[in-house]
Amino acid sequence: MTLQRTPPAAWPRPDPPPAVVRLVEALEGAGHETWCVGGGVRDAMLSHPSQDWDLATAATPAEVQRIFRRVVPVGIEHGTVGVLDTEGRLHEVTTFRRDVRTDGRHAEVAFGVSLDDDLARRDFTINAIAWHPLRLELRDPFEGAGDLARGVLRAVGDPTQRMREDRLRALRAIRFASRYGFSVDPATWAAVRESAPALTRLSMERVRQELEKTMEQVTHPGDALERWRDAGALQVLLPSLAAAPAHALRAADALGRPGLPGRPGRRLNRFSAVFAELGSPEAERAARHLRMSNADVSWIGAMARGWKDHGTSLGADLCQEGATDAGLRRLAAAMGRTRVLPFLRVCAGLWGAIRRLGEGGADPAAVRRTYRRVAAVAWRDPIELADLAVDGEDLQAAGVPAGPAIGHVLRGLLAVVLEDPTRNTREHLLAAVPGVRGAAG
Ligand code: ATP
Ligand code: MG
Repeated sequence: MTLQRTPPAAWPRPDPPPAVVRLVEALEGAGHETWCVGGGVRDAMLSHPSQDWDLATAATPAEVQRIFRRVVPVGIEHGTVGVLDTEGRLHEVTTFRRDVRTDGRHAEVAFGVSLDDDLARRDFTINAIAWHPLRLELRDPFEGAGDLARGVLRAVGDPTQRMREDRLRALRAIRFASRYGFSVDPATWAAVRESAPALTRLSMERVRQELEKTMEQVTHPGDALERWRDAGALQVLLPSLAAAPAHALRAADALGRPGLPGRPGRRLNRFSAVFAELGSPEAERAARHLRMSNADVSWIGAMARGWKDHGTSLGADLCQEGATDAGLRRLAAAMGRTRVLPFLRVCAGLWGAIRRLGEGGADPAAVRRTYRRVAAVAWRDPIELADLAVDGEDLQAAGVPAGPAIGHVLRGLLAVVLEDPTRNTREHLLAAVPGVRGAAG
């Protein structure tokens, strides 16, 4: 066991915010040994800013609840109490615990163990480092700091056994390695691959959450998705994506990372880009398999349908700078005013991936110009039936019989207006009715 009193100068010293240190002081003041653990310590040692400072303590959940007034019982049965610090941030305070029984999905835990026991049940060495912010002491029994410095993801203890205890660890290994650009230690990687056939035992909600975190945390999700494929996880969990062309897995890489304030839709766009190549029925099926919400399933389906219907032709036009305003209005009409710009971002992700694989793909500058042109036509020009200068009643007054004919004529008139928006006047449109009816009949 390695026990460093203070980290060498080469490692940035974990520096939790004062509000977190005060939580530790309160617990220690009541006689309970308490350490910062997990993601906060790891990210601090990588010089990544971290909001997430979790604590491990000898105090029982009941004692934690007595010591702090502002608590949320987030996972009492696992020993976790959420405690709000003076800044209003929630931190997980978890009693030192060890797993007594696991079945690959759930664990039964026991309290009353030491910090070192608690660290030993954690998944990877880089996640099993503890920092005492009052004593300025690092506890790193599995040499996680060395793995951080070398850029290696390694299981704590015997990798095969640790993955057997909880198969989600195989997917977590891939996420952490991809997030930090680390390699996976060979024995750990072998255990990840061995886990693939057993991943069907995970609930699809947990799998979805893992993929969501991947889309949120990994700058280039393609790094993770290719590792899913190489490990055999993709074939088991999302076989249609495993069979998709190589650029599908890379389609989210050029789309900005979600999680930025005011951009909640980005995660969904990343999923949409990755699933688009499957076509709409299969993309929807995959999204439903991942237990996504109905709204997300239908959004992903619409994006996949758009990609199949318009993506290729629009990409070809863009390569030659040939997209006309009328063509872009037709695209906006087909996708809908609120969907067409996200759709173009999805396309940009796919074209970027295709381009990086050296298989063509639209020029990014042309895509940016087109994006601005589409934004202009979508919000300035008439592109929906409701934008037309005439409605169903006007058509009936002009002699079109009530019933399906009205819809046919309105759509015909919209086609006229998409071609030339200056014709969107009552006079022009009523004059065009006979021609449109003739064409429809
Ligand atoms: P982030 O929240 O940034 O994704 P994190 O390290 O905080 O990273 P969490 O999932 O919040 O990850 O878990 C907190 C800690 O709990 C981890 O650092 C790890 O020590 C431990 N842990 C979480 N999930 C598991 C698991 N499935 N098996 C073993 N230990 C785990
Ligand atoms: Mg966390």
